Amino acid sequence: MHANIVVLPGDGIGPEIVSATLPVLEAVAARHGHSFSFQEHDIGGIAIDRHGEPLPASTLEAAKNADAVLLGAVGGPKWSDPNAKVRPEQGLLAIRKGLGLFANLRPVRPHAAALGASPIKSELLEGVDIVVVRELTGGIYFGDKTRSATDASDLCRYTVAEIERVVRSAAALARSRRGHLTSVDKANVLETSRLWRDVAARVVREEFPDVTLEHQLVDSMAMHLLSRPRAYDVIVTENMFGDILTDEASMLAGSLGLLASASLGDGKVGIYEPIHGSAPDIAGKGIANPYATILSAAMLLRHSLGLEAEAAAVEAAVSSALDDRVFTADLAPAGQAVDTTRAAQAVIERLR
Ligand code: NAD
Repeated sequence: MHANIVVLPGDGIGPEIVSATLPVLEAVAARHGHSFSFQEHDIGGIAIDRHGEPLPASTLEAAKNADAVLLGAVGGPKWSDPNAKVRPEQGLLAIRKGLGLFANLRPVRPHAAALGASPIKSELLEGVDIVVVRELTGGIYFGDKTRSATDASDLCRYTVAEIERVVRSAAALARSRRGHLTSVDKANVLETSRLWRDVAARVVREEFPDVTLEHQLVDSMAMHLLSRPRAYDVIVTENMFGDILTDEASMLAGSLGLLASASLGDGKVGIYEPIHGSAPDIAGKGIANPYATILSAAMLLRHSLGLEAEAAAVEAAVSSALDDRVFTADLAPAGQAVDTTRAAQAVIERLR
């Protein structure tokens, strides 16, 4: 197949991890008879510097016409003045909105060789394989806000349609995995959560009778995620609960440099990016861990291009590099680290 991939390196280590990842995609294309073209555009701080705005219209237009978008990271001290009118992160929100992306997927599969990097006991982590699906466009982050000298409020609102579409995405994902879906809410207190629970139950009952649905309250979920993470397959939840639970879940995997994400909507174009930021403290040194970006590229192959075998091949190659302890500085003992390019090269050498 031919695919047109828009590449948004962004700021800090973004350009380093993205340029290490493109040769992996090229190697996959060569081995499996595909051709991928890469179109690079600006987003974030670099876009503010060059175009005066974090998401230039040309970037959004290119993303809308692409098969998929691979993103590095945005932000950094240069653009972090709290009084600044434009900020790099606005570019991320704007591109997600512009592409209608409502489901953020974060797989968490701690790798045997990196278990020691997690603060959680290794015996709890073996066999953990979770995907958290976070609703991305609704809830309290986007509701009306008020502020006076004596009080403030944030409205949490969800529509049936918003809940249905993200639950459908998560249930379809659960069906393609182990068939278990956990819906997380706060239905003992919040009306939006009671609606969430009703809609989730109906969608799964009517459209995914083969998927087992379990409801969990967010407070107990926060405990279970650490005390028995093996019990979960796909977890779906609203925007703010998902924001918090995904960061908690990332601790299961040890290094931020290993965690990929996908933001998906109804169409096939999605945004694929590592969950970490632009790491200004190590930018420009060529030592960033590229595996999270490479694993994001695997998600791109799977979810936007429908290339499951190719995605699995990339994931297996990253696993094999980790098995062989090809570690960047975030994972390696002092003096034993490889650089960004070498780690990506190790993945290419292990591709089948
Ligand atoms: P960060 O994720 O950039 O870095 C946190 C720590 O993890 C740093 O010590 C960093 O060196 C390390 N780290 C991150 N990625 C790594 C990698 N691939 N390899 C090795 N080490 C890695 O978070 P931060 O320092 O809080 O934020 C820095 C900037 O990134 C801020 O401007 C923030 O707003 C932005 N940010 C962007 C995104 C995004 O683009 N999606 C996400 C989070 C933060």
